[in-house]
Amino acid sequence: MTIPDRPQNTRPELLRMEQVDKTFNGDVVALKGMSLEVREGDFMSLLGPSGCGKSTALRLISDLLHPTSGRITWAGGQTAGDLGVVFQEPTLMPWATVAQNVWLPFRLRGKTYHDVKDQVREALKLVGLEKFQNSYPRELSGGMKMRVSIARAMVTRPRLILMDEPFAALDEITRFKLNNDLLTLKDTIGCTVIFVTHSVFESVFLSNRIVVMAARPGRVITEVNVDASYPRAEDFRTSAEYAVYTRQTTDALHQAMGDTA
Ligand code: ADP
Ligand code: MG
Repeated sequence: MTIPDRPQNTRPELLRMEQVDKTFNGDVVALKGMSLEVREGDFMSLLGPSGCGKSTALRLISDLLHPTSGRITWAGGQTAGDLGVVFQEPTLMPWATVAQNVWLPFRLRGKTYHDVKDQVREALKLVGLEKFQNSYPRELSGGMKMRVSIARAMVTRPRLILMDEPFAALDEITRFKLNNDLLTLKDTIGCTVIFVTHSVFESVFLSNRIVVMAARPGRVITEVNVDASYPRAEDFRTSAEYAVYTRQTTDALHQAMGDTA
């Protein structure tokens, strides 16, 4: 993929947050002065302790919440299908088949299954679940359900995918496998990802940029650039380069948590 190999600051901007504050119930400051510039092709992680506003930031970007002040803008505007979202729970409809679940974002936009069956099949193929299109969620493992959820988020080929701790409930082996596959998938569809995690290891493996956040009030402390090249595979996890970046990110996170201790 050519886009992420270009220096970060020469890639076109996709979205920006400017001095965004979010306060709940007039007194819970979930986010204070958050500013970010997301560039096309970024794999950006938001990393920080529980309560630092990571989910709030994603919900603001996905327009499920509105900033108390500040603003969020898409360069060139946002159109339908530009955004895909994956939550920690796969949130599949239990009464519907895998294929019907993946069809949902299109169905909400008035497309019949027949209109989009090729895209649905292609999305399931990309997550390795082509053979399970007629299965029901209860027949799938946790990792497979998450794959369906990812297929559903990317079936419209969005420019931006938001993921909120998608692999936190999975065992480590499954998580590693999904991390590897997610990078391949991103490369194939050429999207941008904002990924929430509290795992240093996961954020370093996946990201070119890690935004380190702290709580009370939720805010950005620093950004770590992971300049290791893509594609990244299993050997990256055991490399000296990976160890250096995890060390640097752990230090940044300790500083962030120390700030509020
Ligand atoms: P994180 O995802 O990093 O764990 P959140 O964004 O969920 O953090 O929450 C940030 C802060 O905002 C926390 O103190 C949380 O309790 C508070 N908060 C989040 N959503 C709401 C809400 N709907 N109403 C009141 N407080 C909220
Ligand atoms: Mg959260």
